[in-house]
Amino acid sequence: MPPLEVRCLVNGPFVENTWVAFCPRTREGVVVDPGFEPEGVLSLLRKERVKVLGILATHGHIDHVWGAAALREATGAPFRMHPADGYWLEALERQAAMFGLEPPSALPVVDRPLAEGERIRFGDALLETLHTPGHSPGGVCFHDGAGTLFSGDLLFQGSIGRTDFPGGDFPTIVRSIRGRIFALPGGTVVHSGHGPDTTVGEEKAGNPFVGDGAELLDAPGDLPYG
Ligand SMILES: [Zn+2]
Ligand SMILES: [Zn+2]
Repeated sequence: MPPLEVRCLVNGPFVENTWVAFCPRTREGVVVDPGFEPEGVLSLLRKERVKVLGILATHGHIDHVWGAAALREATGAPFRMHPADGYWLEALERQAAMFGLEPPSALPVVDRPLAEGERIRFGDALLETLHTPGHSPGGVCFHDGAGTLFSGDLLFQGSIGRTDFPGGDFPTIVRSIRGRIFALPGGTVVHSGHGPDTTVGEEKAGNPFVGDGAELLDAPGDLPYG
């Protein structure tokens, strides 16, 4: 498999990771989670000379999709998200109000829903969509089939996504992580929606909530990330 180039823009009040993934030969790529700073994403795309073929959301929480409409407007690339998180997009203004934030001037509209197993191709690279509910019902991860995973807020270094928002569910997130993510090769690099990178192997061995030694009694309280 050809290498996938990956860049990160850490942005916004929730310190979210927006990812740009692209094929180094054709410079075609995708944005994973447009985040809060569409201007910053656009300048990163210009700097790397990346032509965006898709704007992909791992889920519909405001810190991941606030800038989606602006980025779509500026690039012409379709906005893609799993339909089970549609209610989060519809509630974007309420999500903003809840955190005392301004809603975006244009609300994101999904051009084409994402489906489990769908492969998004750009240049010589691809990302396969894994439907991994738990943090939210329409949560997805993207796997390049060659050692790179974008996990959104499903799995973090040493932590997991919160399950106390509407539609979140602890047994479901455990199933998604153990059944889908931990089935990937241990060396797979995990680019999360917040915080530093990790690997599947490190989290399988040592994650206190879902790792091999975890007791899985109940949903942990007060997880740091939304
Ligand atoms: Zn989230
Ligand atoms: Zn988040």
